[in-house]
Amino acid sequence: RAAAGPQYLNGLNPEQREAVETLDGPVLVLAGAGTGKTRVLTTRIAHILSQGRARPHEILSVTFTNKAAREMKLRLGQMLGQAVEGMPWLGTFHSIGGRILRFHAELVQLKSNFTVLDVDDQVRLLKQLLQAENIDDKRWPARMLAGLIDGWKNRGLTPSQVPAGEAAMFGNGKGGKLYATYQERLKILNAADFGDLLLENIRLFRENPDVLRQYQGRFKFILVDEYQDTNVAQYLWLRLLSQAPARPGLPLSAIIPGRIEDANPESPDSGSALSAHPGMTETTAAPSSSPPKNICCVGDDDQSIYGWRGAEVDNILRFEHDFPGAKVIRLERNYRSTGHILAAASHLIAHNEGRLGKTLRTEDVDGEKVTVTGSWDSEEEARAIGEEIEELQRAGDNLNEVAILVRASFQMREFEDRFVTLGLPYRVIGGPRFYERAEIRDALAYLRVINSPADDLAFERIVNVPKRGLGDATVQLLHDHARKRRMPLFEAARAVVETDELKPKARGSLRELILQFDRWRAQREVTAHTELAEIVLDESGYTEMWQKDRSADAAGRLDNLKELVRSMEEFENLQGFLEHISLVMDRDGGAEEEAVSLMTLHSAKGLEFDNVFLPGWEEGLFPSQRTLDEQGRAGLEEERRLAHVGLTRARRRAKLYFATNRRIHGTWSTTIPSRFLDELPSANVEITESKGGSGWGGSGGYGPSRFDNVESFGSSYTTPGWQRAQANRNRSQGGRGGQARGGFEESQSSFSGGFSRNKRGPM
Ligand code: ATP
Ligand code: MG
Repeated sequence: RAAAGPQYLNGLNPEQREAVETLDGPVLVLAGAGTGKTRVLTTRIAHILSQGRARPHEILSVTFTNKAAREMKLRLGQMLGQAVEGMPWLGTFHSIGGRILRFHAELVQLKSNFTVLDVDDQVRLLKQLLQAENIDDKRWPARMLAGLIDGWKNRGLTPSQVPAGEAAMFGNGKGGKLYATYQERLKILNAADFGDLLLENIRLFRENPDVLRQYQGRFKFILVDEYQDTNVAQYLWLRLLSQAPARPGLPLSAIIPGRIEDANPESPDSGSALSAHPGMTETTAAPSSSPPKNICCVGDDDQSIYGWRGAEVDNILRFEHDFPGAKVIRLERNYRSTGHILAAASHLIAHNEGRLGKTLRTEDVDGEKVTVTGSWDSEEEARAIGEEIEELQRAGDNLNEVAILVRASFQMREFEDRFVTLGLPYRVIGGPRFYERAEIRDALAYLRVINSPADDLAFERIVNVPKRGLGDATVQLLHDHARKRRMPLFEAARAVVETDELKPKARGSLRELILQFDRWRAQREVTAHTELAEIVLDESGYTEMWQKDRSADAAGRLDNLKELVRSMEEFENLQGFLEHISLVMDRDGGAEEEAVSLMTLHSAKGLEFDNVFLPGWEEGLFPSQRTLDEQGRAGLEEERRLAHVGLTRARRRAKLYFATNRRIHGTWSTTIPSRFLDELPSANVEITESKGGSGWGGSGGYGPSRFDNVESFGSSYTTPGWQRAQANRNRSQGGRGGQARGGFEESQSSFSGGFSRNKRGPM
């Protein structure tokens, strides 16, 4: 049938088309992986633009990663046959929030050139606050406080809104006060942390209704991808912008009967967090006669994988309640994966209880079965995967269509080593590995101090790098001054060199440093930012420091510094570059050559590849030990959704692996295959021999006979005895986790999604 209408609508199925063409009123697309949700969103923007319903800057479109935003822009250009001019409001929650905040920084006590702190900076700052309060950092680690504050911010809570019980949880009742002091310090430093980009934005809107109205009026259309992973702060922000009337919380059980609500009864987040939220009682409602906002959210409850970071899958489930009259559209045809892959993924996720459930079908061929391969250890696993990739390459597959998705970022190193040995080009996605290197962070610190003299953390990082006789005592003195006079360190330094409090030598070099910065700031006005960076690295003695260094990696560091300057070329100016650095979650500006992608499962969301390798399917790694130690099923179900996300990234081949021996956090242990392997349907799975060499057959109790489970197990959900025994053993060893809070460190670090700066959401 010849499709009527514009060309970009061709090929859409009727439901997709309805989602694209229903421009007025709220729309929710609730559908499984690979059904074209993201495609629908992109086409919808094309439709809005080509129908003249809004101009590019009147569309607010939220993606989950910066990469996804770029991709969307690209596709949009293809659909419309010309590059879209503008679209300033297409990006992640955090990049858009940050952008709005810069326009109105004064209203939240910041300046428009405020610095965005990363986790390290945040922790250093908190350490100082703990010291000032005489709180033992060993007993009450700054990192833990950072996590608490982050959690509060994700829930949209300012210091005064944190429930007293929670505020008392840290530092013998000082948690709440520390949060407040921290926020004050940020203002003095002219800095915001990641969570502030949204939280301060919410505060801005609440305290300045005129500003809010301005944005409500501007955004004629709002679109949100991956809605199942929005947290409370993001939800509040969206709701402010979309003028949705605030309603009292509706218990979730009224929406989905039988949903597990109290999986973690200790967590203050359990149950209907929204109704308990202070922000929810306030009304931001427009008069009820106002037309419903044109908001379109798409998502999949089976892909909700950021619960550990405060995401509320409930947001998607209560959409109809929040936006009365919403049209809910379901898409059931999967366009991505072959039959076997889709069947395996659907069968696996059916083991979860807390889900809406949905049908997915494909009209694609069955294709190859999902393979499962056991290895002796992780090294052999890496070798096997390396060989298979080389085989694909020989057969003519494009390396850009090959991805390795790991559960925890520590798994990556072995693959990186292997690829270097094989000479296989690869890229790491989701962790700005490059920008996290020490020499890069040093160089960035110089640039940050030039950009924002109040950036104390950056200043402190480089004040004595390279060594210039400004050691701890000097820094301490500067801190005392700064605190007393409530000024930035840099200004304190200016004052101190005028006194005789420092020894002549220190005083001399501090004076010299200040003069240098003044000079660089003046040069900034007349010099290209890339050139300025070279000048700074040169004149500060930083480059020389590495030139003189005799350690093996010094040369590599010098190369990295060069690469840094090169990467700046892509930006208009220093401010733009620094902003980018603070927000990047994926490694940008890398070579455009064909390469294997290496990333965590968390950062693979929304992506697709012909060939997907999924290593490390072992109990204790995937599902993670933390979720095994936990009471209740919520964590385990989230792990299963993660496994489902992994499988559904594959178009043609999905290859699963487990190793019998693995080193986790430095200790070797014998492992057993993941229960998720047992939960795969045997008809769609094939067990293959490891191509890595030694084979794993001789591994005592954990040989192939164990793994025969895969063939026999089918669909029932009883945990095999040997797995229960293992889980019990782990529990009785005490040690890790057990409580909701005990698992925090781990969920934030080793098992983190490896997204933005490794600790934070890619939003
Ligand atoms: P996920 O839940 O993983 O984010 P999704 O629902 O967003 O998946 P898309 O990424 O939009 O799915 O689409 C999956 C694949 O199917 C893409 O390659 C897309 O181009 C393709 N696709 C979607 N709809 C159609 C269609 N009507 N005809 C042909 N291909 C389609
Ligand atoms: Mg998508």
